[in-house]
Amino acid sequence: MSEYGIGTKCVQAGYSPKTGEPRVLPIIQSTTFKYETSEAMGKLFDLQEAGYFYTRLANPTSDSVAAKLTALEGGTAGMLLSSGQAANFFSVFNIASAGDHVVSSAAIYGGTYNLFAVTMKRMGIDFTFVDPDCSEEELNASFRPNTKAVFGETIANPALKVLDIEKFAKAAHAHGVPLIIDNTFATPVNCRPFEWGCDIVTHSTTKYLDGHATSVGGAIIDSGNFDWMAHKDKFPGLTTPDESYHGIVYAEQFGQGGAYINKCVAQLMRDFGSTPAPMNAFLLNLGMETLHVRVPRHCENAQKAAEFLSQHEKVAWVQYCGLPGDKYYELGKKYLPNGSCGVLSFGVKGGRPAAEIFMKNLKLAAIVTHVADARTCILHPASSTHRQMSDAELAAAGVPSDLMRLSCGIEDPQDIIEDLRQALEKI
Ligand SMILES: *Cc1c(COP(=O)(O)O)cnc(C)c1O
Repeated sequence: MSEYGIGTKCVQAGYSPKTGEPRVLPIIQSTTFKYETSEAMGKLFDLQEAGYFYTRLANPTSDSVAAKLTALEGGTAGMLLSSGQAANFFSVFNIASAGDHVVSSAAIYGGTYNLFAVTMKRMGIDFTFVDPDCSEEELNASFRPNTKAVFGETIANPALKVLDIEKFAKAAHAHGVPLIIDNTFATPVNCRPFEWGCDIVTHSTTKYLDGHATSVGGAIIDSGNFDWMAHKDKFPGLTTPDESYHGIVYAEQFGQGGAYINKCVAQLMRDFGSTPAPMNAFLLNLGMETLHVRVPRHCENAQKAAEFLSQHEKVAWVQYCGLPGDKYYELGKKYLPNGSCGVLSFGVKGGRPAAEIFMKNLKLAAIVTHVADARTCILHPASSTHRQMSDAELAAAGVPSDLMRLSCGIEDPQDIIEDLRQALEKI
């Protein structure tokens, strides 16, 4: 569907029924698939033929939705997973193992930071975290001979820093490794990282792609642009025989466009089983059918809320890359010309106690840990998720005690602003 616009792909890509088949993507709620002969099934097990035999590895509903997201990102192959955490884990573990090293932006989702810095470190993979705003020299200095990948987020959650994708891609490629980007907050409607040199994209589909907070899920999409064979020694998992699959070489069997995802499914999904439920894939697809309509509305509402807050006397600061003067305004204009996302952060004058009064008085914005769905929601880390930390500890962690993260939904903007206005008055 490459000739169609992004909106048409949101609605139609990934599933094209033939005569007499269901118009709407069917939920194939079956763990298993039937074959006439053992030989026919054996070919699937040998990866000699494509097909379904067990939903832990692949399911037609999930595959259709993965194909839609692959079309949206402009990739060659994609897969769905049971969560964004699983997606980020698989994306790195597919090409790095014990003794390897990965360079990551320090401005990433807290769950991903913990996965990398604690859990994967325990598996023997070392991470160096770099300031995403560092110079090219500093970035290049963070590589080691055993570095296997570079990781970052298009718009960091919750720091809202915009990644200089070209800078990161250039450094990754100069060292013969791919750039992996978590594109959750931007979505392919606002940014397609492959167009800027990124090689692999991940998503927590839990956020805008689902859009209604119904299903936790993740995805990995390959651009097909990284030449594994040109860096044969660095990526033996893709370029030398896999003994657990009768000695196939993924980069030969599936080519440059299919090797990474096929290996990820055949080995990691087989062994870890982070499989999405077909029902959740169906709900994700339903959400994605309106992604191109919802995302601009999220951005419009966030822009209006950011402008309102930045002019309010009780507000100390606002961070949103759509505001002129924001540290990331220029990077936003380059990589996110149509808008960034619906999430902004701000602080009120009077610190933690003032923020607590403000939070208590909100009527429309719900207090939840989630972000990026149709309903406006808000989180004050200092009095909830980070409440055990002192003001000094919070400041050191880049989460000041007055910080509130506002995720603008797709309601009427005047109602979101009125809710903010009346709660600010109570301070
Ligand atoms: C939420 C989130 C994740 C984790 O995704 P889950 O679906 O909650 O497992 C990863 N990256 C980013 C940017 C996120 O916002």
